[in-house]
Amino acid sequence: MDLVLSRQAFLEMIWQWHGDRRGCYRHVCLACGRTFYASRPDARYCRGACRQRAYRRRLRRSGAAPAGG
Ligand SMILES: [Zn+2]
Repeated sequence: MDLVLSRQAFLEMIWQWHGDRRGCYRHVCLACGRTFYASRPDARYCRGACRQRAYRRRLRRSGAAPAGG
């Protein structure tokens, strides 16, 4: 039998013990608002799908006119 924790569960466990530290940071996904844990301090999305969604949304918004806010 394999006792393999998911990467998320593993990082969360470390974070519970140590808090933010090198190699484990808590983030809130900019796409779905979900809390997740990553080994990188600059992570912004909980998974690839969320990153894609945010990226597409940004493309749609900046598609028409470059001017205006
Ligand atoms: Zn997400």
